[in-house]
Amino acid sequence: MDLTELLENARRNEALLKRLQAFELQLLSCQTWLDFLTLLLEGLPDQFDLDAATLKVCDPDGELKAAMLQALDIDQGVLLNQLEFQSRVPIIEAQAVTPPPPWKSGLALPLMRNDLYLGQLRLYSNSNDRFQPGMATDFMQHLAAVIAACLVMVKQSEEQARLALTDPLTGAENRRGFERAYCREWSRGQRQYHVFAMILMDIDHFKQVNDVHGHGTGDRVLKHLCKTLKGVMRPTDHVGRLGGEEFALILPGCQPDQLDAVVSRVQKAIHGMEVKNDHGKVVPLTASGSYISVTPRPHQELKLAQVLDFLDSYLYRAKKQGRDRFLSVEQ
Ligand code: GH3
Ligand code: MG
Ligand code: MG
Repeated sequence: MDLTELLENARRNEALLKRLQAFELQLLSCQTWLDFLTLLLEGLPDQFDLDAATLKVCDPDGELKAAMLQALDIDQGVLLNQLEFQSRVPIIEAQAVTPPPPWKSGLALPLMRNDLYLGQLRLYSNSNDRFQPGMATDFMQHLAAVIAACLVMVKQSEEQARLALTDPLTGAENRRGFERAYCREWSRGQRQYHVFAMILMDIDHFKQVNDVHGHGTGDRVLKHLCKTLKGVMRPTDHVGRLGGEEFALILPGCQPDQLDAVVSRVQKAIHGMEVKNDHGKVVPLTASGSYISVTPRPHQELKLAQVLDFLDSYLYRAKKQGRDRFLSVEQ
């Protein structure tokens, strides 16, 4: 290598280092999965002339998958395709790897934090010689260390936010969390002409459940109901606990003509619940509810409280009509 080449190399390295430092600063300011994953999977390829970045996440208990899917929502389908969750991701050194088609070269970077293996970042290029076996990867390894640290930080920050928005007994969203989900859904619906559906429900004669079987059984019923609801809904749907034994659901993208079927499924799941009291006896349970299809329109505002007022009046009718039924809100 002659002097001109050496100087040219040094100049290129310095420019790369500067870009890496700027990118690391952006990474450090991420607090949410949405910001972090957008920066990593879209910003990184953009800023470093790459053609794709993918992330394999070690996720033995499925916790990160649930959190990331919820944060990315169904809007971010492209990013979801770049994420993979595995209970065990093979531990590798930073190295050039054979890329999947259509890419021509690839680099795998391990994400390690305090001896904890978090997964792998993979970078792909359409150029054959972008990543070559044996090439120096120290800059990229440094970047991977910062990415790993930021991944842990974002996880902690999201976890704290989640706790503030979650009902500790059932794990459903609390009123604040549900309000936030509603606002997001409403504004997304306005942007993309998306409909969504909402269901409000209240357990029938729940006071009797407590009186006859005790509060412990009552609490178990609430937990079991929430789990049952989540079991029959999509991961991107929302379950909120609005009060004692009153729950509300948001079903993004649920079309009006599907709603009756969804409500039947929910009711069937509630009928099938088998919660036992302290003596092992199954507690009979029903719920009453109401449901509505919401079509957000531009320049219109419909607050959660207004929708809940509608739903509440129909829930009241369902109770009056003998309980164990769900009524559609006529629009
Ligand atoms: P209805 O069919 O008209 O809805 O009758 P209900 O008995 O379900 O309604 P009511 O509003 O009279 O009673 C609600 C009960 O829910 C009373 C309250 O003690 C109980 N409750 C509220 N929060 C909790 C909780 O966190 N755990 C338990 N075990 N019970 C709760
Ligand atoms: Mg009730
Ligand atoms: Mg009630």
